[in-house]
Amino acid sequence: MQSYEWRGRMISMAESKPKIVVLGAGYAGMMTTKRLMQQFTPEEAELTLVNKHNYHYQTTWLHELAAGTIDVNRTRIMISDVISPKRVNLIQDTVLKINKEEKTVELEHDKIEYDYLVIGLGFEKATFGIKGMEEHAFSIQSVDKSRMIRDHIEYQFAQYRNLPNPDPSMLTIVVGGAGFTGIEFLGELAERIPVLCKKYDVPRSDVRIIDIEAMDTILPGFDPELLTYATDSLEARGVEFKLGTMIKEVKANAVIVGEDNQEIKAGTIVWTGGVQANRIIGESGFELTKGKVNVDPTLRAPGHDDVYILGDCAWVMNKETGRPYPPTAQIAIQEADICAHNIKTSVFGGTLKEFSFDNKGTVASLGGSDAMGTVFDGNKLYGVAAKTMKNVIDNRYLFLLGGPRLVLRKGKFRPF
Ligand SMILES: Cc1cc2nc3c(=O)[nH]c(=O)nc-3n(C[C@H](O)[C@H](O)[C@H](O)COP(=O)(O)OP(=O)(O)OC[C@H]3O[C@@H](n4cnc5c(N)ncnc54)[C@H](O)[C@@H]3O)c2cc1C
Repeated sequence: MQSYEWRGRMISMAESKPKIVVLGAGYAGMMTTKRLMQQFTPEEAELTLVNKHNYHYQTTWLHELAAGTIDVNRTRIMISDVISPKRVNLIQDTVLKINKEEKTVELEHDKIEYDYLVIGLGFEKATFGIKGMEEHAFSIQSVDKSRMIRDHIEYQFAQYRNLPNPDPSMLTIVVGGAGFTGIEFLGELAERIPVLCKKYDVPRSDVRIIDIEAMDTILPGFDPELLTYATDSLEARGVEFKLGTMIKEVKANAVIVGEDNQEIKAGTIVWTGGVQANRIIGESGFELTKGKVNVDPTLRAPGHDDVYILGDCAWVMNKETGRPYPPTAQIAIQEADICAHNIKTSVFGGTLKEFSFDNKGTVASLGGSDAMGTVFDGNKLYGVAAKTMKNVIDNRYLFLLGGPRLVLRKGKFRPF
């Protein structure tokens, strides 16, 4: 067998290089590909990244796109701008199915083989069987779906101005769920609605933004002081909360809620109340627990040592609490390091590393120059300070992905 020296070690090369395929160019997929490029020389492994689009988008900015407070091109980064096509086979195609036993992936236009597979296909909305949710509610799930929400809201304003007797509920926006996505979206709506009111000469009092949440609190797990701050900030800008209220059914222009089956008419209904792994994972025969795969501490799918599942497709157990970490971009990025290291170890030998989450804090944007959250050892931040920290977090990711050039092109610098 051929061998050569690399970083002071003698490496034996198999006749054919291992094929490492990454599915999905989100946070997990992009960072894993970057790390694999650092772990392997071109002679040691063949790297492939498959994604539906030729661009990567910041999922954590989609609520801004959905509300219309950010331009679509700010959220998109051409994959080939940060990952060289000379080094990685970039395939723009849609993944349809993974054949684990055959070690192949079926794409819409091709079928590819792998020796090691990294699945980072992200989330889709989980409707928990709520009648009509799938058909009638929007979800903040991708660039295209978020753009539809933005355009739909603006169309409601345009129609309202042009119909002789418009139904006032056309300008009611119902947001289902008060988790991270729901709260950040409400913050952007609170900023965007006054702009649309001005643009279409509509009194602000004609517009309602109603959040409906089954739990008695917004953002479960956050510090109570931060929750009070967030609630006050959003209510002051016209957001109405209906907490402890279940959505029972979604109709074309209404939701049915609560024990008394109250009907709330609305021109726009956006569901942010639940996510599950991309359905391809379940359809490919991976065992799901509450919509995602319970991966082992090395991030591999149980029973499949050659398949790593990352980001929103996986649950990773927190050994201290015995509960899985809530999936976030922060975790997806950190998982990439362990995944790339473990694939290299599987190829060259050594000890696999176990994932442990280094929580750097969580900051939720409340729109405009407002935000709140905790950083480092639980220090609380509010308002402009928190928003500045949120921008630092976003810019840090851009730096990791594409260095200072990408930060300058796509970064966020002003807290408003
Ligand atoms: C509005 C919003 C705000 C958020 N804010 C925060 C935050 O502030 N902080 C935080 O840590 N987390 C936040 N999150 C959560 C965070 O965005 C996710 O946890 C993170 O994106 C997960 O990364 P991922 O790589 O698993 O998936 P994603 O980043 O969603 O990437 C999935 C990729 O797979 C591609 N893909 C999907 N299906 C296919 C297919 N069939 N074929 C080919 N490609 C496919 C998609 O195009 C996409 O590029 C937020 C989420 C949302 C929706």
